[in-house]
Amino acid sequence: MAIFLYIKKFFISVYSIFLGFRVTLKNMFKKSVTLDYPLVKQPMKERFRGMVDLIPPDCVICYQCIRVCPTAALELAHVTKEDKKKEITKFVFNAEFCCFCGLCEEICPTDAIYLNKMYEVVYFDHQDMLSIDLMKADKYKFLNEKNPSCKI
Ligand code: SF4
Ligand code: SF4
Repeated sequence: MAIFLYIKKFFISVYSIFLGFRVTLKNMFKKSVTLDYPLVKQPMKERFRGMVDLIPPDCVICYQCIRVCPTAALELAHVTKEDKKKEITKFVFNAEFCCFCGLCEEICPTDAIYLNKMYEVVYFDHQDMLSIDLMKADKYKFLNEKNPSCKI
């Protein structure tokens, strides 16, 4: 009697192995739904809100982004030169305060300020995320250096 039970268990085991292989074979030639991250990255959606970024020449120094920001994450200062032209002396972003609401982007009349598609924001010292100089082209370079897979 025990021998029949043993044979039955043997066939059940073999059957379950083939069942597993059937699922594997069925999916083996299908298009992969996962990405080889971080070598391959999913492009972020249009409405994704990453880090706050600025196109300095497009800024007309209207201070609307400063006024609308609910967390006071932005700091702007300027001087008026003799020829009445305004010049930005300070435009910094305190990412630690930002709630990524996107209001600054929404209100900007010239689209100078925007939220980029950067999402690999890795940092070890929270001071790094304070006073990010928006006037600098390589403002987020330090993040790339700390996390080589991170690219804007
Ligand atoms: S996204 Fe919102 S919280 Fe962040 S800087 Fe812009 S307005 Fe301020
Ligand atoms: S709202 Fe736009 S144009 Fe006005 S200060 Fe901010 S970034 Fe500059």
